[in-house]
Amino acid sequence: MLVNKVLRTSLRSGIRLQSSTAATNVKASSSGHASSPGFSFELTDQQKEFQQLARRFAREEIVPVAAAYDRSGEYPFPLIKKAWELGLINGHIPQEYGGMALSNFDTCLITEELSYGCTGVGTAMEANSLGQMPVILAGSDAQKRKYLGRMTEEPLMCAYCVTEPGAGSDVAGIKTRAVKMGDEYVINGQKMWITNGGKANWYFLLARTDPDPKCPASKAFTGFIVDADSPGIQIGRKEMNMGQRCSDTRGITFEDVRVPKENVLIAEGAGFKIAMGAFDNTRPPVAAGATGLAQRALEEATNYALERKTFGRVIAEHQAVSFLLAEMAMKVELARMAYQRAAWEVDQGRRNTYYASIAKAFAGDIANQVASDAVQIFGGNGFNSEYPVEKLMRDAKIYQIYEGTAQIQRLIIARELLGRFKK
Ligand SMILES: Cc1cc2nc3c(=O)[nH]c(=O)nc-3n(C[C@H](O)[C@H](O)[C@H](O)COP(=O)(O)OP(=O)(O)OC[C@H]3O[C@@H](n4cnc5c(N)ncnc54)[C@H](O)[C@@H]3O)c2cc1C
Repeated sequence: MLVNKVLRTSLRSGIRLQSSTAATNVKASSSGHASSPGFSFELTDQQKEFQQLARRFAREEIVPVAAAYDRSGEYPFPLIKKAWELGLINGHIPQEYGGMALSNFDTCLITEELSYGCTGVGTAMEANSLGQMPVILAGSDAQKRKYLGRMTEEPLMCAYCVTEPGAGSDVAGIKTRAVKMGDEYVINGQKMWITNGGKANWYFLLARTDPDPKCPASKAFTGFIVDADSPGIQIGRKEMNMGQRCSDTRGITFEDVRVPKENVLIAEGAGFKIAMGAFDNTRPPVAAGATGLAQRALEEATNYALERKTFGRVIAEHQAVSFLLAEMAMKVELARMAYQRAAWEVDQGRRNTYYASIAKAFAGDIANQVASDAVQIFGGNGFNSEYPVEKLMRDAKIYQIYEGTAQIQRLIIARELLGRFKK
């Protein structure tokens, strides 16, 4: 199969996969999720190929340098560039704009594998999907050609600018204003916790365009594409976070930033739905990332439990430890099924909000539980940065916070559930 050759060749020699020819080859052979009739857990050959490529990349390229990136906080651009060359990021960009048009399911498989290596690196890569998603879902042909196209031509980053110092969960509480002046909008406001904030080539930005506090959220906000080099943008310092330290998180101030009206997504007032709608597509990959972290914690803990001896036997032979490993394994398997279901639903063209929030909430929670249990199995060594699980525990926490907190996911799940029962 041609695509296998392309993938294998690209793995060996680092040949750029995101050229239009390679992208066409990949797409021509990619059938998305196994579309055999009925119910199947079998991946297609193509999906196995993606998974193997990402797995090898994570183990050979990311794992050996993850601790050093965690210590230095340096942005992992060399890894991002290599992943881009192999076609492991931006996979969901449609073919007509130079991408591979991978299904959500396929990108999730890749994300899980990359996140096994390091979720700091994974988040830096995944923030591109979050920034791009509003453009993929709501952009005009010209906007997609300009802003998605350039990301397949060179390894550029973008960012999703919604959260502000005063409003995170309560998105409708954001204060950034955009005022129309002739053929432009003038934007003023402050954004906070923006992943890739200092590395992005452009931002998706949500701003209030209707100042009337009585205007419903569904009409009060507008989504813009903003070039990062626009005059008036001040990028804040890199934040020092608990985990995922090589990911670039910053505040950004917008002061009289002029954006042409061509950069409005859909139309004035359509922004809130666009910004929220992106999550149905990005929460399954976030859940896949959390699953990758949990899988890593499970493997590290299992290997350790088979080596460490107490009371004359390896600790895996103490039932308390083996049962803990069994609980961890159950959680990892279920988190994987949850993200795969959420991704599969959206690939079928169905509204997957319920499944996406279940996957995100569950995988985020179990990543924390499993990483903490791994630390427990490592004993004192688990508390020390010479061993890998301490980092996993720090890295896991963000999965209960970004892309909608654990509490907000439960609000969404409850709303969806109750909506089905209400007469
Ligand atoms: C490392 C990192 C990267 C991020 N990347 C991005 C990014 O790229 N782009 C972006 O726009 N944002 C980003 N964020 C922001 C992130 O999405 C928000 O931090 C998150 O949505 C929570 O908002 P908040 O911090 O304002 O907390 P708050 O909304 O103030 O919530 C505080 C606490 O109250 C709880 N809570 C709030 N409301 C309710 C309620 N109604 N019911 C029950 N509990 C509630 C929350 O669950 C939380 O526990 C990032 C954040 C971090 C830390």
